[in-house]
Amino acid sequence: MSCNETILVSSCLVGLCTRYDAQANTSTGCLERIGAATWIPVCPEQLGGLPTPRPPADISGGTGHDVLRGTANVLCRDGSEVTAAFIKGAHQVLEIARKQKISRVLLKARSPSCGVTRLGVTAALLLEQGFKLEEFD
Ligand code: SF4
Repeated sequence: MSCNETILVSSCLVGLCTRYDAQANTSTGCLERIGAATWIPVCPEQLGGLPTPRPPADISGGTGHDVLRGTANVLCRDGSEVTAAFIKGAHQVLEIARKQKISRVLLKARSPSCGVTRLGVTAALLLEQGFKLEEFD
């Protein structure tokens, strides 16, 4: 990518230990895709106020779009609900994307926040707002 582009990227993909188990998901494919571009790492779950480490969570009853519409929720394995934190984190990421004039967003696949194919809450909000998303594993 060109060096005058600014990219938003899931923080765990670039080696930051923000995952629920305080590990990273470093992706060489993602780092290669970033190339010389300027990048800003974000973790929507942390931005939503959740701690690290934290219990793993998943969307129950729909996709990220449904969570934003209020027809699905996000539950931890112990049954506790973290829907509000996931929605807050998604809006925080959107605010950063708007303020920084982001051209592209690279997100972690299969996450209830960041997943694109299996659509997470943050990815759904960014898609609804017209951002171009790519996912990496
Ligand atoms: Fe944070 Fe998204 Fe990575 Fe999960 S997948 S640790 S929410 S950046």
